[in-house]
Amino acid sequence: MHSSNRRGYTGLFIPGPTNIPESVRQALNVPMQDMRAPDFGELTLPLMADLKKILKTQSAEIFIFPGSGTAGWESCLSNLFSTGDRVLMSSFGQFSMLWVDMAQRFGLAVDHCQVEWGEGVPHDHYRTILEQDKEHRIRGVFACHNETATGVVSNIRRIREILDDLGHPALLCVDGVSSVGSLEFEMDDWGIDVVVTGSQKGFMLPTGLAIVGVSQRALERRSTANLPRTFLSFDDMLKANATGHFPYTPATTLFHGLRASLDFLFEEGLDNVVARHARLACAVRAGVHAWGLTLCARQPALYSDTVSAIVVPENTDSSEILNTAYYRYNLSLGAGLSRLAGKVFRIGHLGNLNEIMVLQALAGSELAMRACGMNIELGSGVAAAQAQFIHDDEQAIVKAA
Ligand SMILES: *Cc1c(COP(=O)(O)O)cnc(C)c1O
Repeated sequence: MHSSNRRGYTGLFIPGPTNIPESVRQALNVPMQDMRAPDFGELTLPLMADLKKILKTQSAEIFIFPGSGTAGWESCLSNLFSTGDRVLMSSFGQFSMLWVDMAQRFGLAVDHCQVEWGEGVPHDHYRTILEQDKEHRIRGVFACHNETATGVVSNIRRIREILDDLGHPALLCVDGVSSVGSLEFEMDDWGIDVVVTGSQKGFMLPTGLAIVGVSQRALERRSTANLPRTFLSFDDMLKANATGHFPYTPATTLFHGLRASLDFLFEEGLDNVVARHARLACAVRAGVHAWGLTLCARQPALYSDTVSAIVVPENTDSSEILNTAYYRYNLSLGAGLSRLAGKVFRIGHLGNLNEIMVLQALAGSELAMRACGMNIELGSGVAAAQAQFIHDDEQAIVKAA
């Protein structure tokens, strides 16, 4: 069946790009404007100020580059590090792996902790390596907060505690692409020096903005860092951003979308956004459990509230489930990436999402799994998720009383 034959809409349950709120989509429909106009800063300066509220930072600089999250990774490396710098990184999924790969391609000397996929940042291993680094050769410690390929969230505060405990001056650089704006995130409180995120996940925008927060301490590294940087230069940005302008043509349309997205998040309240993601994720996991399936994430403390990677039985190819969901039931689910291809499918449950949408994703997954010959009781995951929602609502009533 081809998409031209489809009716209704295609359910989008991938972990980015996410569903765009109508207010944001409308806000994107604006005439072009002069990005060198004297009053352009009236649009952009409040965006910078409000992004600090999302990242929970008072003092960090905010950079907005035209690009995806990957550009944000690159800006961190090229502005703050030098060829041959030692950095401590870990990989436990496609995204954490790709940042390691980028650092290696830039010629950094990566201490690469290869962790089993389904686990998170190896805190103990990090501590051991940092402890041995008496001369403080390691310039940066990197972490993927929410590994989107495996649905694993890692504790970032604990890395800061290790660094502080050892008095180690390395910069703490965090990939927050699939966590910022959806999960608890505290840049200042967790002592994060660099956080990278993008527009198409928690911000519920089209792809096209790399958003980067950089601590003042990290910015001081610019003068000694020798990697070349041009398009993604923090220096050029800082100069132009002082008046709310940009060193080259920015994505003005997306700025209007970002304005609406920030308003959308503030209207709900960040704490409520985080609580909603937790509630929806809990229901997805109840559904997965009812199917008799397991998550790729190894233990509950690692379960991500923005994406679940669901392991299929060995005799099943998860890409068949994805294709059936897509072609037969107009439902986009997340694929298993790289070494998880065929082994998992993912449900993205972040952004502009509510209970009924979660039930839709679960119901569609059940249909697709059954159509692919899996022994799934129809309605079992949906019922478990519904029961979870009812349970939550009852708890809330008890609490309020
Ligand atoms: C989506 C994502 C990225 C960046 O991907 P882009 O496609 O470049 O936006 C990086 N890290 C994580 C954890 C992600 O989920």
